[in-house]
Amino acid sequence: MSATPFKLMDMYRDLIAIPSISSTEPSWDQSNEKVIRLLADWFSQLGFAVEVTELEDAPGKFNLVATHGEGDGGLLLAGHTDTVPYDEGRWTKDPFKLTEENGRLYGLGVIDMKGFFAFIIEALKDMDLSKFTKPIRILATADEETSMAGARAIASAMAIKPDYAVIGEPTGLVPVMMHKGHMSEGIRITGKSGHSSDPANGVNALEIMHKVMGRLLDLQGQLKKKYHNPHFNVPYPTLNLGHISGGDSPNRICACCELSFDMRPIPGVPPEELMGLLHHALEPIKQEHPNTMDIFHLHEPNPPFSTDTEGELVQAAADISGHSAQAVNYSTEAPYINQLGCQTIVLGPGNIAQAHQPDEYLDLSFVKPTLDIIQGLVSRFCLEQK
Ligand SMILES: [Zn+2]
Repeated sequence: MSATPFKLMDMYRDLIAIPSISSTEPSWDQSNEKVIRLLADWFSQLGFAVEVTELEDAPGKFNLVATHGEGDGGLLLAGHTDTVPYDEGRWTKDPFKLTEENGRLYGLGVIDMKGFFAFIIEALKDMDLSKFTKPIRILATADEETSMAGARAIASAMAIKPDYAVIGEPTGLVPVMMHKGHMSEGIRITGKSGHSSDPANGVNALEIMHKVMGRLLDLQGQLKKKYHNPHFNVPYPTLNLGHISGGDSPNRICACCELSFDMRPIPGVPPEELMGLLHHALEPIKQEHPNTMDIFHLHEPNPPFSTDTEGELVQAAADISGHSAQAVNYSTEAPYINQLGCQTIVLGPGNIAQAHQPDEYLDLSFVKPTLDIIQGLVSRFCLEQK
């Protein structure tokens, strides 16, 4: 096979043309294997050693680690290969056909974030990798948009130990040094139905849930008082009541009621701590109404993320990008990558406002600065002896 003469737009087109949607809705969910195999082929041609791993918990979903150089340390450039589903009928373009129009590139995943891999290769192809004094690694993960299973697997395997990691999510090329976590929780109250004419005939789940909601609102206030991080516009962990359902008829005692809500922990407040406060807040209701309450995760909690704000990576990214590092409100794989023991930032082309939207696009004005920033960071952390 002859080597591909890598061209940014060709790589972009090929990545966008391969659907790799992940979704908790099985009819939407797809394997990311073809994207991973394509990246494996490209990075092999660049002289990287590639390792493709199928996720134990998610058959048909794959991670890729491509390595150039020996040993631990060095720089990791990371991203996810899956995209969200697209709203049928709301795209004015084909989501799987790269379309260039009015200085923009349209397609599903152009900024979130398959396109980042095209940028990495474009940035590296003209660099003399044989001169690198530190290893460079590329990580491409599965299922970031759903369970973060790919990043979780990388964190638990601990097979790579970079010094620095950059995740190329669309931050508008502003380095991101912290974000909140995200937790989706459910509470189910199981009472006992009965004729409404006599309350003693049953156990009313709605009445118990009413007490639960009172406690949750108290907790909401406590979180605001107890914790503070001035980097965020909303500087405390939030708790939002999101959905409730229960009961069926005015003349029946409600036997079951379910509430779902989310919490967003700030850095330094692990999800376990908020779960502890939650259980503590609800304990009196459990005592009063034994065996009626189940508390459960709607999905595994995603921890908050922060990196060493005075570290070399934050400094270098600020110097090279021309933007000081910020805190953001969305969640990424950064807390898992951070568990590898590296300094970690999120920094990539495109604006988050255009992600998860119909007609997702990359403004072409990002192309040159993105390549400059990747080359700058690679030079800084792989070429110079520190
Ligand atoms: Zn993303």
